[in-house]
Amino acid sequence: METADYKRIRELMVETQLIPRGIKDVRVLNAMRKVPRHLFVPEYIRHSAYDDMALPIGEDQTISQPYMVAIMTELLELKGDESVLEIGTGSGYQAAVLAELAGEVYTIERIPELADRAQRKLEEIGYDNVHVVVSDGTKGLEESAPFDRIIITAAAPKLPEPLINQLKEGGIVVAPVGERFSQMLIKGRKEKGVLVEEYHTACVFVPLVGEYGWKG
Ligand code: SAM
Repeated sequence: METADYKRIRELMVETQLIPRGIKDVRVLNAMRKVPRHLFVPEYIRHSAYDDMALPIGEDQTISQPYMVAIMTELLELKGDESVLEIGTGSGYQAAVLAELAGEVYTIERIPELADRAQRKLEEIGYDNVHVVVSDGTKGLEESAPFDRIIITAAAPKLPEPLINQLKEGGIVVAPVGERFSQMLIKGRKEKGVLVEEYHTACVFVPLVGEYGWKG
């Protein structure tokens, strides 16, 4: 299924969309070169899979723009053996990128149809270190906590308290936080039990809907 053409298009994506915008982590760039993004988008838009934009994946949800996946992943500072929690499985693409760079990836999706599709796709490609869970991710995943890293790939009105509690000391959380239609990408590091936050780029994500997110 993987052709030389897709490899070449991914290299182009890395060289024209990621490196010029400042993505430097070689492990992240290599994961973006490797993961077959075209397999995570609906067939009718496969030709646009590597375009510089978010794309629809059904159920009114989106797969994030490649640059957004890359910057969020880079901010997580993954070294290889971390336990990562992702909120918002969507297509499963971000989870696949994380699976290339971390130890175990737990990913939560609230829409069962998307979770099923993502799980099947991830299994088909061979990612056996990704665990897909259907639930309200704003409550985290107590049974597998604490996590070294947490990434929220939907727009949160504020960082959900349960997620901060499930982050290890020294751990990093990355999330788009702000208004419903415009957010800032925030990176928080837990230091002595308190989250020390940095603000990165402006962004627009679909809403995080749940008990500690937006009301549906
Ligand atoms: N990471 C995804 C990918 O690689 O395709 C893109 C995520 S999409 C921008 C946001 C996803 O978050 C949607 O699939 C949406 O259903 C999901 N979502 C929203 N609120 C959620 C919640 N409380 N718990 C779990 N998933 C949620």
